[in-house]
Amino acid sequence: MFKSKYLNGVMETVIKRNPAEPEFHQAVREVLESLEPVIEAHPEFEKAGIVERIVEPERVVSFRVPWLDDQGNVQVNRGFRVQFNSAIGPYKGGLRFHPSVYQGIIKFLGFEQIFKNSLTGLPIGGGKGGSDFDPKGKSDNEVMRFCQSFMTELSKHIGADCDVPAGDIGVGGREIGYMFGQYKRLRNEYTGVLTGKGLTYGGSLARTEATGYGLCYFTDEMLKDAGKSFKDATVVISGSGNVAIYATEKATELGGKVVALSDSNGYVYDKNGIDLPLVKQLKEVERKRISEYVKTHPEAEYHEGCKGIWTIPCDIALPCATQNELDEESAKALVANGCYAVAEGANMPSTPEAVSVFQSNGVLFGPAKAANAGGVATSALEMSQNSMRYSWTFEEVDAKLKDIMVNIYKNSRDAAEKYGLKGNFVAGANIAGFMKVAEAMMAQGLV
Ligand code: NDP
Repeated sequence: MFKSKYLNGVMETVIKRNPAEPEFHQAVREVLESLEPVIEAHPEFEKAGIVERIVEPERVVSFRVPWLDDQGNVQVNRGFRVQFNSAIGPYKGGLRFHPSVYQGIIKFLGFEQIFKNSLTGLPIGGGKGGSDFDPKGKSDNEVMRFCQSFMTELSKHIGADCDVPAGDIGVGGREIGYMFGQYKRLRNEYTGVLTGKGLTYGGSLARTEATGYGLCYFTDEMLKDAGKSFKDATVVISGSGNVAIYATEKATELGGKVVALSDSNGYVYDKNGIDLPLVKQLKEVERKRISEYVKTHPEAEYHEGCKGIWTIPCDIALPCATQNELDEESAKALVANGCYAVAEGANMPSTPEAVSVFQSNGVLFGPAKAANAGGVATSALEMSQNSMRYSWTFEEVDAKLKDIMVNIYKNSRDAAEKYGLKGNFVAGANIAGFMKVAEAMMAQGLV
């Protein structure tokens, strides 16, 4: 499979040791493919067993989360925290609450997080966590009871200098607030143990916007290098959660026209351009379905099912919903309709087959690790502000975010070029992210 015998051996062990975790295998395979030239140029990494160590989490915690629903019935969910790699800083990565969550999903996300966090240039290691709890349709009280139970166990494993979780799918400001409150009560300490906090209790300005804005800053830089821009471009964005909403806001501000958004039931196509204030009201305030959009905008179309969104003609596509949402057929449809740039707001939204369709057709392709790193970067800025007991203005945080995203783009581009893979930002991001972690691991000995 790989040219390197060493990498083949590592991949075989990963598959054998982690059966029935296909998403984790997929994430590891993609990184190892990119590392072929690095391993060839650096035999010391093989000698020190860097790759077999980096694919094995430092710690995996799996726990029971019992809670009472509004009818007084006992409910039991499963919670996870994967502390993957702490070579360059405390573990950092979000918590996902979604029924599809199991250990393989958390491990794929935690593994990706190592390289993403390294790419930000900030001192944060890789981790991820979550639960198969579904916040959809639950009352605020049910969500609170679940979050308190979840944090009762999680609090034993995290801390401001050890592991700092954040939000992800199904975990927004409400859930972070409940978990922060419970941590503080249990530990009697007011520390920045979670990021994505509300502004009244230690949150950072611009954290809510950061992933979506950062995605557009990265994409803009990639477009500029190719002599293109968002100006007058037609943009299709999947999802309608945190990342999709703020990607829509920034893409529009940069001159693009966003014509479609989706959720897990279907998508809306508004050729006049998406009415973002309405989407914010529906999704952030009322927690409703995207199908409601057409009630206010009868001229827009609503289609059941998520995949059809990729058949809408566009110049730029930003998948911002979930893993493996964009397959080979969808990638071919995008290419056939003239799409020239794709950047991933979600984690691993494009299947490997879709990525090769983009790459073989000369589509500019910004992989998640690089393109969506703005969220975690701003979380790290929130940690800095918490440590200083000080807050930066929105403009200060946004300017730092922009700098970080431009640097991530340049580092990914340059790393790809250095190893003879010009224009391959997947390889470039993996290599640039890996090098810093590998060097730190080498320096710290066999741990
Ligand atoms: P949200 O929960 O705010 O929104 C998720 C969106 O994706 C919703 O519109 C949801 O629809 C949709 N979605 C979820 N699962 C599916 C599915 N199986 N099929 C189709 N659509 C689906 O999450 P975020 O916006 O925070 O996260 C989106 C992606 O971005 C995830 O991959 C996450 O890991 C990644 N990410 C998020 C960061 C952040 O800062 N928030 C940082 C970096 C990456 P519905 O409401 O129907 O479930």
